[in-house]
Amino acid sequence: MNFEDFQSIKQVLSEPKKIVIVPHRNPDGDAYGSCLALYHYLLKFDHQVTVVSPNDCPDFLKWMPGEDQIVIFENDTKNATGILEEAEIIFTLDFNALHRVGDKMHNALMKLAPLYVMIDHHQQPDDFAKFTYVDPLVCSTCQMLYQFIEKLDDLDKIDEDISTCLYAGILTDTGSFRFPATTSETHRIVANLLDKGANNSEIYNKIHNVSSYNRLQLLGQALQNMKVEEAYKTAYITLSQSELNQNNFKKGDTEGFVNYALSLKNVIFAAIFIEDKKQGIIKISLRSSGDFSVNKFSREHFNGGGHINAAGGRSEKSLEKTIDKFLSLLPLYKNELKNK
Ligand code: 5GP
Ligand code: MN
Repeated sequence: MNFEDFQSIKQVLSEPKKIVIVPHRNPDGDAYGSCLALYHYLLKFDHQVTVVSPNDCPDFLKWMPGEDQIVIFENDTKNATGILEEAEIIFTLDFNALHRVGDKMHNALMKLAPLYVMIDHHQQPDDFAKFTYVDPLVCSTCQMLYQFIEKLDDLDKIDEDISTCLYAGILTDTGSFRFPATTSETHRIVANLLDKGANNSEIYNKIHNVSSYNRLQLLGQALQNMKVEEAYKTAYITLSQSELNQNNFKKGDTEGFVNYALSLKNVIFAAIFIEDKKQGIIKISLRSSGDFSVNKFSREHFNGGGHINAAGGRSEKSLEKTIDKFLSLLPLYKNELKNK
């Protein structure tokens, strides 16, 4: 987006508007962080603002400022649809293809023609928004949003709530500042957020030190199930629906499990396959280190996408058949996987 685009957005926002902010389905810290930061920012003007999320977030995000004001489409469809229908502007945050809100909410959105503004950091954005502010090199949508507010010349509007939300999103999407997309600019922004009131150690504790006993038992099961394909520097984890049930699985419990597979010495490609009997799918998370693109791998074989080093996807086959497919694909990538 160029200077004129930001001037146009500023112009559009100079009058009170009905605005809706939407994260992707199964919202993570960056999705909710960016949506809520934008929510608090826009509320400083005379706009009518609502965050409408396709479904609910895991418990470890339930403390975020403004989270209790979010309208959940899945639980409150009639009300949410009404709010979407009224919207003059819809911001889509932390995703770049409209179907990532899930089928039902996607259908509702397809009937509408609001002014869309996309703010995101994933590769290959779809072309549905009037304004598309995307940089796949940036670590998080929260960093993009900070820069967006900066471009609107409003950094002085960032208060404790906004900085808390932005910090939480940057923290989670950078794996606590360790992923390669974490730059000196990220740290400069984070430093400013601390100055504006974000409490780093409190936010870390609220997100990371809230494991249930069941979650750690489930992690134990996941680690037991982990398999290594040494020839392809690949490790993968499976969790069946019955293993999830045995450990009283709750949304968000498996967050981060795939990173244990990637943490193995000599492993550069990691995957976790999680059975979801209700949806009839296997949910897949893929991670890599170096330049093996899991975004490409997922787009080509598992109906998903994401970033070079972190992507998601799905399979409609059984867990066993999905693993067979995954293993049969590895030889096709032998050169990419063994040369790193
Ligand atoms: P996760 O494995 O944590 O669910 O997702 C990793 C990354 O890939 C995130 O940035 C997420 O937004 C993206 N991602 C996850 N699932 C999908 C998907 O089905 N399609 C696309 N395009 N991106 C996905
Ligand atoms: Mn993100």
